[in-house]
Amino acid sequence: MTWKGIVDRSFTAADFDTYCKGLTWAAWRPSFIVLHNTAIPSLAQRPDGLAQQHILSLEAFYRDTQGWSGGPHLFVDDRQIWAFTPLTVPGVHSPSWNQVAIGIEMLGDYAVESFTDGRGLAVQANAVAAMATLCEVLGLQPSGVRLHREDPKTTHKCPGKNVDKAAVIQAVEAKIASHAAEHDPAANGGG
Ligand SMILES: [Zn+2]
Repeated sequence: MTWKGIVDRSFTAADFDTYCKGLTWAAWRPSFIVLHNTAIPSLAQRPDGLAQQHILSLEAFYRDTQGWSGGPHLFVDDRQIWAFTPLTVPGVHSPSWNQVAIGIEMLGDYAVESFTDGRGLAVQANAVAAMATLCEVLGLQPSGVRLHREDPKTTHKCPGKNVDKAAVIQAVEAKIASHAAEHDPAANGGG
């Protein structure tokens, strides 16, 4: 299988927003986002988040060990958003949904690690920002976000039970609303 390559660039949430606004989805247009957690490694196993060497090891894992054509589109940690399989082509992350969805991996094992405080909350904030950007750029509804564990063809409990889907969707909607407010002069006291 031909490996699709990786973007191998990391972004702050603001830089990721700019990056996505420069992309064109010509051949493939995803319909929703699937959220994952890495489980292994956990946050505890990556005290400084994901470095480039970790991303290159992940590439070797998906390409050489698994023999797949791609992986998830993004790896999000508490510091940054790593672009992995290009967002403009299908990735490999959820058996039922690879052809229709963007896959976002969050660093952490949210079966046991907290998603609502400390580093887990910082991961959540970056993931929410990335999802808000993708929803805006692609015209997707935040309510369409799915969790990997909802895929009927998987047995993975991914992401862990500490990830509350309704709360995540609400956070993405709030982020989109705050973007809209930033761009509305009246909301900034300009009117
Ligand atoms: Zn998953």
